[in-house]
Amino acid sequence: SKVDKAPFIRIPYKEAMEKYGSDKPDLRNPLIIEDLTEIFKGTEFNAFRDKTVKAIVVKMPEDKPRKFFDNMSEYAVEELGAKGLAWVKVDSENNLNGGISKFIDDERKIQIFTKMNVESNSAIFFIADEFEKAQKIAGGVRIKLGNEFDLLEKDIYRFCFIVDFPMYEYNEETDKIDFNHNPFSMPQGGMEALLTKNPLDILAYQYDIVCNGIELSSGAVRNHDIEVMKKAFEIAGYSEDVIEARFSALYKAFQFGAPPHAGIAPGVDRMIMLLTEEESIREVIAFPMNSKAQDLLMSAPSEVSDKQLSEVHIKIDVKDKK
Ligand code: AMP
Repeated sequence: SKVDKAPFIRIPYKEAMEKYGSDKPDLRNPLIIEDLTEIFKGTEFNAFRDKTVKAIVVKMPEDKPRKFFDNMSEYAVEELGAKGLAWVKVDSENNLNGGISKFIDDERKIQIFTKMNVESNSAIFFIADEFEKAQKIAGGVRIKLGNEFDLLEKDIYRFCFIVDFPMYEYNEETDKIDFNHNPFSMPQGGMEALLTKNPLDILAYQYDIVCNGIELSSGAVRNHDIEVMKKAFEIAGYSEDVIEARFSALYKAFQFGAPPHAGIAPGVDRMIMLLTEEESIREVIAFPMNSKAQDLLMSAPSEVSDKQLSEVHIKIDVKDKK
């Protein structure tokens, strides 16, 4: 396969989620997700009302039967957790047919055609949901359409850096702010950002290398400043005592001053997976674990003898013993 000669492109996380519905975009797939929320404001179509509406247009050189659209909807609902997958066909004279065409008046049609560069003989798919769900489902529909219409570029590796991950995310279940990826990353803007910005707007110096939809490497500029670290953890609800107890090595080391540092760890097994065109990482790992996380070759996990335990200075309380 060819390697894309262009330099690695840099895609901010937010843009990746908007355009590809994923932070691991497969750039061989030419389809781009568009946001039609504004255009559908006030729509009579109940499923779209007060929802984020995402859409993908795909050229359809040959007309597809109703069954194709039903199968796409079924996939979206069952595999991606969508509430439905609305669609319209655009014929050779740019008329809208089938699906939800009766809900798209001329004004909306013009806006959609302009925004999405819709051409004749195509189909448009729509996803309506809460913002984040809509993005993710659209990402899954994008992949599925890319495969169904055989749109992926062949024999090429398309690389990109995904950058600017959010430092924090909102956890709906606990109604709290959590770290998004790595709590030890340096927040962009340092202490000032932590003190003055809405935590959900703070970005981290984190970066992934993604190739053909697979995360090959992950890294970050680390937080090396104990005061910034304490504040970053405080925002996620950790007191200083907890940091000291849980991360005592870093907590102590940083008191003596640590130089700024950054790193990235390559996923060699994933690179091999891409080079060998395997679908599952287990095909390229010498001793893969099964779905119960057992290594059958090494019979791990298994019972250990008292002798083995004493060699590594582990003592088990009798009440813990079976
Ligand atoms: P209904 O009004 O339930 O008959 O749905 C009409 C069309 O809209 C069907 O193709 C559904 O799959 C689709 N649909 C329903 N809910 C949604 C949704 N939340 N997002 C996208 N399409 C939807």
